Amino acid sequence: MLIRDYSLLGHNTFGMDVKAAAYFEYTSKEALRTFLLSSDFEPYRECFLVIGAGSNLLFRKDYDGLVLHSAIRDLDIIEETDDGVLVRVGSGVCWDDFVAWSVERNLHGAENLSGIPGEVGASAVQNIGAYGAEVCQLIERVEALGLDGEERLFSNEECNYGYRDSIFKRELKGKYIITAVTYRLCKQGNLNLSYGNLRERVEGTTVNDVREAVCSLRASKLPDPHTLGNAGSFFKNPVIPRWQYEHLRDVWPSIPCYKVDDENVKVPAGWLIEQCGWKGCALGRAAVHEHQALVLVNLGGATGGEVVSLARHIVEDVHNKFGIEISPEVNVI
Ligand SMILES: Cc1cc2nc3c(=O)[nH]c(=O)nc-3n(C[C@H](O)[C@H](O)[C@H](O)COP(=O)(O)OP(=O)(O)OC[C@H]3O[C@@H](n4cnc5c(N)ncnc54)[C@H](O)[C@@H]3O)c2cc1C
Repeated sequence: MLIRDYSLLGHNTFGMDVKAAAYFEYTSKEALRTFLLSSDFEPYRECFLVIGAGSNLLFRKDYDGLVLHSAIRDLDIIEETDDGVLVRVGSGVCWDDFVAWSVERNLHGAENLSGIPGEVGASAVQNIGAYGAEVCQLIERVEALGLDGEERLFSNEECNYGYRDSIFKRELKGKYIITAVTYRLCKQGNLNLSYGNLRERVEGTTVNDVREAVCSLRASKLPDPHTLGNAGSFFKNPVIPRWQYEHLRDVWPSIPCYKVDDENVKVPAGWLIEQCGWKGCALGRAAVHEHQALVLVNLGGATGGEVVSLARHIVEDVHNKFGIEISPEVNVI
């Protein structure tokens, strides 16, 4: 059923108290197809937004269009061999519930991605990643409906995965609605403990030990959106040419970087923001988190405009100090 004037407060982790002109939630692919082919969708064909849990979204104001949300919550093992399983998961399943499900069965692959907010549909859009793993390493295929109701299957290769990037964020943005994702999990495998201090934190040899360590590390570093509204890392880590990095290092010898390729490096945006003195600072009711400069937070009652204004000041200061352009990772709507 189409609901008019729908509050999105419970649908975005920044805690923005905004409304959508219309909202439609579907529990099956068939229900979504019927809706897309109905006259109810027609007025919104050019003005709609698919959301998951809203953990990578910032609403600046009320959304004057239609919000679509998946409540497709099936989870089925569709193939099993001696080595592993293929699991088909509905787009509306909470990502971390799927990780917990896989860890309970001692299946390997998703444990490093424990605790990432959001739903399964968005995992395939965002190519979520953490602690040395990316979801594209698990994705076998993605099922989606086009706006004409036609179904399309995307192989992993067709999704064009890159760092927090996919075809659904670029060429096909707004053209397909993901209904299910099939992941490949292994029955055995080596634990991936190469990232940062993860190895020191893992107290055993099972995927559950990794999950527990990742969850506790995340809780110690990132604010919980239930108590402090946020959307995780607000900015992307900028990629700059190596020559520019070397030039900057002459002035700031401690500037960190990670190799991208022979010509380019990635600089942590959090470090740049911290050097500009923004860590822990507020502008109105929006602030930079006191422990993690990459995370912007809603101190309570902030509007999307206040967060955007804070972000603009930060972008400007980073540019003036380092000559580097940082851009939002979060979808500003
Ligand atoms: C505290 C915190 C920590 C975080 N840590 C991490 C982290 O470690 N690693 C990481 O990668 N991310 C992290 N994030 C970001 C966020 O969790 C991910 O981007 C997540 O995938 C967003 O999922 P969502 O369901 O909330 O999507 P939303 O924010 O609702 O949507 C994200 C994008 O996906 C699109 N979309 C959603 N569902 C569908 C669908 N079914 N079909 C087509 N398009 C769709 C939306 O239109 C939008 O463009 C963090 C966020 C928070 C708040």
